Amino acid sequence: LFISFEGGEGAGKSTQIRHLADKLIRRGFDVLVTREPGGSAGAEAVRHILLSGEAERFGTGLEAMLFAAARNDHVRDVIRPALENGAIVLCDRFMDSSRVYQGGPGDLEPVFLDRLERIAIENTAPDITIILDIPAAAGLARAKARAQGQGTGDEPDRFEKETIAVHEARRQAFLEIARREPERCRVIDAGRDEAAIARDVMAAVTPLLAA
Ligand code: C5P
Repeated sequence: LFISFEGGEGAGKSTQIRHLADKLIRRGFDVLVTREPGGSAGAEAVRHILLSGEAERFGTGLEAMLFAAARNDHVRDVIRPALENGAIVLCDRFMDSSRVYQGGPGDLEPVFLDRLERIAIENTAPDITIILDIPAAAGLARAKARAQGQGTGDEPDRFEKETIAVHEARRQAFLEIARREPERCRVIDAGRDEAAIARDVMAAVTPLLAA
């Protein structure tokens, strides 16, 4: 079972992944938690280039291809082997982040992005995608509070230095994906308390555990 988590800054993806992983492990499932960009040795090397902003200088096409290259390495080296071993894979961001972040600016051809997605995932799509939805302003406020609370630990990267309008457009793009693929996507209101969100995430995943 392959579960991806998506959402903007401060949506609480990593917190909710931890809650779900704990619950599944307690029920006796074998769980693998991973994240993008990164998650495999090759992809972590590319992550550094992506988050530093180095790739951006050379254009969005190069950046999109690097995300795809990293994702393909992650799928081949980590995700697919774990699924084949019967593990439940929880992935912090996956292909929908590319649709939203690399597709958002609109300068890359949709056909090119589709093709990259297929090359990257090779038919290993998530069985279910949890979209943690929070208004951009509230998410950013949370992300900032977290960064300040941790001091040096969580420096805002270049992706976090953007306007609320850009974040809100991404939020809408995630919601649009959910409207187009309702069988795969579950939108969960992430503006509530942690425990309520965790309960909804578990309820969304539970029907797939029996299958
Ligand atoms: O999940 P997290 O917020 O830590 O992701 C790190 C950053 O990478 C995000 O701020 C996001 O903007 C960016 N990203 C991206 N395209 C992707 C995945 C992540 O621009 N496909």
